[in-house]
Order: sequence, then C-alpha cells, then structure tokens
Amino acid sequence: METCGSARDLAEIMKIAYERKITTGAGGNASLKTDYGIFITPSGKFKGKLEEEDIILINKNGEVLRGRGKPSSEWKMHILIYEKREDAKAVLHCHPSIVTGLTNAGIIPTPAELDRIGAWTEESYLLLGSEVKVIDRRPFGTLELANAVSDALASGNSNAVVIRGHGAVTVNSDPWSVLSAMDSLVELYTINFLMWLSERLSQ
Ligand code: 13P
Ligand code: ZN
Repeated sequence: METCGSARDLAEIMKIAYERKITTGAGGNASLKTDYGIFITPSGKFKGKLEEEDIILINKNGEVLRGRGKPSSEWKMHILIYEKREDAKAVLHCHPSIVTGLTNAGIIPTPAELDRIGAWTEESYLLLGSEVKVIDRRPFGTLELANAVSDALASGNSNAVVIRGHGAVTVNSDPWSVLSAMDSLVELYTINFLMWLSERLSQ
C-alpha cells in the first residue's frame, strides 16, 4: 500500500484546523493509515501546537508501537473507519462550532436543499460524496461512538459524518484531502446558513 502523507502532515493539518477555528485547542484528532501501522494525534495535547514528534504510531488494537504519550481517545473510531472503508487512508475529526451549532438547531444542509440553493459544487461532491450523514451523540472515546461513526461511513457514498452536539468526521485519501473535505463541510454549512438567514430576513 502506498502511503500518501506523513506524521508531519498530520501535525500540520491539526494546526491549520485550529488556526482556522475549525477545531478547538482540546477537540479533534487525525490519523493516517500506513503499511506499518496507523499514525494518530496524541490525546489531550493542545491541537494548535502539534509537531511531528507528537504523532503516535499504533497497531490495529490501539497498542503504541512508537511515540510518547497516549494516542487519541478516539483511536477505536479511526481504526473501525479504516476497517469499514478500504479506500480511506486519512481520517480527521474536528469540533467546528458552526457545524455542531447548526445541526443542533436543525439547520442541516441536505442534498436537496444544497441543490436548490446551488451550493453543492463538483468540488464538494468529490470531497464529501453524495451526502453528509448526521448521527446522534454518544460519549466520546467509546466503542459505541466508534461503531456509529464507522457504520455511517461504511456504505461508501459519504465521506463526512456530523455527530450531534459534538463535531464532525471526514475521511479521504491523504491528510491534505481530508482537511479539504472538512473545509468543504464547513463551507456548505456556512453557505446554507447564510441562505437560510437571508431568506428569512427578506420575508
Ligand atoms: P483526544 O485529544 O483524545 O483526541 O480527544 C479529542 C476529542 O475531540 C474527543 O472526541
Ligand atoms: Zn471530539
């Protein structure tokens, strides 16, 4: 299997996600599947300052093969996604407040609504697939959450899941594409909300 990306890329995408306010200092994690194990961000470390040395290599049982500290508390979620999605090589979980807040408020960009407002672009289709799945909240770090997220992605027609009251998960072929997918998800939610607002203000 060819690995697209490195531990350094993982640290970089988390830093960018933090700087862009797509995730918080404590929230979010990222991983990359390689021939020799899974690179994953550490648990509980400030996401805006991760370096290559912070990234941990684990096996499919979550055991640490290389690195200091503890792997992300969501390691089960990352591993189950790779098991159910052969095509996924990178996974990103973020806490984008606009996505969580709007989902909680029921303002969710469905494919039909996005088509209607012309926001479902070729680019977002390529990155996110044909729909964004929304699932109910489960406690973080649990097998229950890991199963729910990986099941939602299993069919292969969607590269993004939103967890009510928590955040979002994207999958893709490499660290930079998985960040682009998250970016695209945030963009779709933002455009959909602006359209929702302007339609109500003009009534
Ligand atoms: P970790 O720091 O353990 O990755 O946890 C962050 C998070 O977002 C849990 O859902
Ligand atoms: Zn989280």
